Amino acid sequence: MGKQIAFIIVLAVTLGVFTFTALRIYSFFKQTKPFPIKDFGKRFWLMMKVAIAQTKIFRLPVVGFLHAMVFWGFILICIGSVEMVFDGVLSTEKLFAFLGPVYDAIIGLGDFFAWFIAFAILVFLFRRIFMTVKRFYGIEMKPISKIDANIALTIILLLMVSLIGMNTFYLALFPEDYEGWYPVSQYLVSSFSGLETHSLHFWYELNWWVHIVLVFIFANILPYSKHFHVFMSVPNVFFSRLEPLGYLPNMPNITEEVKLMLDPEAAFAKPAETDEEPERFGVLDAEDVTWKNYMDSLACTECGRCTSVCPANITGKKLSPRKIMIDLRARMKEKGPGLVKEGKTYSDNKSLIRDYISEEELWACTTCNACAMECPININHPTLIVDMRRYLVMEESAAPAMLNTMFSNIENNGAPWQYSAEDRMLWAEDLYIGEK
Ligand code: SF4
Ligand code: SF4
Repeated sequence: MGKQIAFIIVLAVTLGVFTFTALRIYSFFKQTKPFPIKDFGKRFWLMMKVAIAQTKIFRLPVVGFLHAMVFWGFILICIGSVEMVFDGVLSTEKLFAFLGPVYDAIIGLGDFFAWFIAFAILVFLFRRIFMTVKRFYGIEMKPISKIDANIALTIILLLMVSLIGMNTFYLALFPEDYEGWYPVSQYLVSSFSGLETHSLHFWYELNWWVHIVLVFIFANILPYSKHFHVFMSVPNVFFSRLEPLGYLPNMPNITEEVKLMLDPEAAFAKPAETDEEPERFGVLDAEDVTWKNYMDSLACTECGRCTSVCPANITGKKLSPRKIMIDLRARMKEKGPGLVKEGKTYSDNKSLIRDYISEEELWACTTCNACAMECPININHPTLIVDMRRYLVMEESAAPAMLNTMFSNIENNGAPWQYSAEDRMLWAEDLYIGEK
């Protein structure tokens, strides 16, 4: 009874903190622009392929394999955690055991994966602490990013150690009468055969509590860490852009203007202008992005795969696509509370462009889409970069001088060159082209 009450209190606190965080993030999402979603069937299969089967992560085979195994193991172990929550609330023991062979398979695979994940996490920690992996470095990777990653990996390691301990002491407590299958932990049981029943019970309970409390702590610190991708990567892939890479969506308000120019009759039929403030062209700040852009920034794992293939970054330019995502997340964290409190008119005299992302970075992008292609969770950086450039060009005429010349030429001559359309064939005058 005491355990049950204590567990319910711990669970209530966990859910309370989690709900507070979820509502805070939701309120930030509400500040962003729409991103229409359709083709749910297509999205489902994309999610199965990229997020569940982890296909893109295998481009780096060894690390990819370890990461994929950690991901799959986590899903199985989560089922065990759900059972623990029910056991804690209802004061039962191995509540899902009625599933029979299915239960044995889930627990058995979970037991195997606990060992495998512990091994993989040790490899990841060793790599992060003792090796220099180029893609983990960059101007956007502050010391806190490293600490954040190491804390999350350490918690995962402790989660696995406590799970193995829980399984081992459970088997030692009930050697003849246990539920589930423990293909790896069973070999540890003999090491504790000399312990009294009350000691075994103590160690089992200790591991049980450590494991479930770590699960609760982990769930609550994830939204404040780069490991938020544990929650966000699957939905982020589901809501991926479905258009081919490189496709740039038109801006609806510009499309309408062009149509009106081509059809003056329609212009007269158009309702009179209202006093409403015109919509912003492109993206200047956090509230101008779509909710999918913001979701991308929350889902980013900071793995650096995008930056490692970016031709601009490789050739020494300031641009790092990973930084674009980190900056957007940081900017929303900074401006979001003010937007929620005071609405869209709120200003702190800062903006995503310039205070976080420089024009130099934006114009360094070749829109090659290598970053979007490489990202294991289908984050799309180029569309956001182009939207920020759209703002610079359309609202501030702040394109680089070379581009401004080209824009004027297109406007005046219908071509990027400085010659009028009538002069276009002058070069061929002496060549008698077309004459019989
Ligand atoms: S699209 Fe831009 S940011 Fe992405 S890899 Fe190419 S140059 Fe880099
Ligand atoms: S955007 Fe994608 S590839 Fe780049 S760091 Fe984030 S998760 Fe990794």
